[in-house]
Amino acid sequence: MDVTTKINGEILANLEKELLPMYQQIDEISLHNHKKVLNAFHNCQISDYHLKGSTGYGYGDSGRDRLEEVYAHVLGAEKALVRGQIVSGTHAIALCFFGILKPGDELISITGSPYDTLEEAIGIRGNASGSLKSLGISYKQVELTDEGNIDLELAAKTITSKTKMITIQRSRGYAWRPSLNISAIKEAVDYIKKINKEIIIFADNCYGEFVEIKEPTDVGVDIIAGSLIKNIGGGLAPTGGYVAGKKELVDMAANRLTAPGIGSAVGASLELNRLFFQGLFMAPHIVSEAIKGAILTAKLFHKLGYEVLPLPEEGRTDIIQSIKLGTPDKLIAFCQGLQKGSPIDGHVTPLPSGMPGYEDAVIMAGGTFIQGSSIELSADGPLREPYIVFLQGGLSKEYTKLALISAAQHLGH
Ligand SMILES: *Cc1c(COP(=O)(O)O)cnc(C)c1O
Repeated sequence: MDVTTKINGEILANLEKELLPMYQQIDEISLHNHKKVLNAFHNCQISDYHLKGSTGYGYGDSGRDRLEEVYAHVLGAEKALVRGQIVSGTHAIALCFFGILKPGDELISITGSPYDTLEEAIGIRGNASGSLKSLGISYKQVELTDEGNIDLELAAKTITSKTKMITIQRSRGYAWRPSLNISAIKEAVDYIKKINKEIIIFADNCYGEFVEIKEPTDVGVDIIAGSLIKNIGGGLAPTGGYVAGKKELVDMAANRLTAPGIGSAVGASLELNRLFFQGLFMAPHIVSEAIKGAILTAKLFHKLGYEVLPLPEEGRTDIIQSIKLGTPDKLIAFCQGLQKGSPIDGHVTPLPSGMPGYEDAVIMAGGTFIQGSSIELSADGPLREPYIVFLQGGLSKEYTKLALISAAQHLGH
């Protein structure tokens, strides 16, 4: 490709021709997952009145309860907790850690550093009151191998009699590493359960839902958590998070969310049920649009000479596309260009700033209908070497295409 030509729609249309076989594979996964969701709706006999919400304590909220049954079916889990009162993905993950782990227990991450926002919750960074560390729950981490795989032998050596839980992060988060696909997660689960089947395996499923035809809970992971303003909310859930897995463990997380004794039996769904149901219904398709946009992004920036991860043709297990831009100026320009292509706040210029839970300044572009939603198109990156931008989401591939043109042009291409 002639890199002096201004990026335009025609250039992207030509690149897309080469991606058609991949688009077809993505459509097949989407169809499979859509059928899974539809079957769950049928199994749970969802009716119009389930779309209505409750107020106050939320006793007898049949819509909320059915929604959780549908989630459990879709995720291959015994039980799910799906609530607007779970404020974010970090909160959903924290419910699992704090609900299940007790003083004296040990948590091991076998996928290297956890997502930035979890560092303070665990106590790896800072001195936050109420962190796992402050409660006497210890933490160890096993780095990924140079190839980005789980180091199972080292993990086995790291496990002690205190090890209560092992945590796995499916998606790359803000790291330059491959994401862990479902078959790699299954291999790790089988290996660890052979060492000690009592160890609880947790997976941070953020950004992973519906990218493959299985979820971690389908392959033996005991409990997972994620955000509703990412994949599984389908762009319609305005807030919320979920936890799903073994009933006993989900109940522990629910006791942490509300209080021991009331657990998942309370919690008004307000007006959220319809949006949660409809968002879940749309999610397999929306995720497929986001992946197509990610592949197109990879293709374009690879051609422009940037290092991209994953490569356009590589298999995917999350919706994130990372591009190594190399300089702070380029990172900022990319995000500002993408912002210009957004439906909301397209006239606003994002700048790097400190964010609660993140160590480095972060620049975030995302002119979204739902604040911070990253199933809608967004791009962000911490202001640190080697200035990687992480792009994710995109409610329609067409919109992603237009925003990409804006970002590339802003970079001078
Ligand atoms: C987004 C994300 C989180 C945290 O989610 P928030 O909703 O931003 O709190 C945790 N882990 C991973 C891998 C994520 O992508």
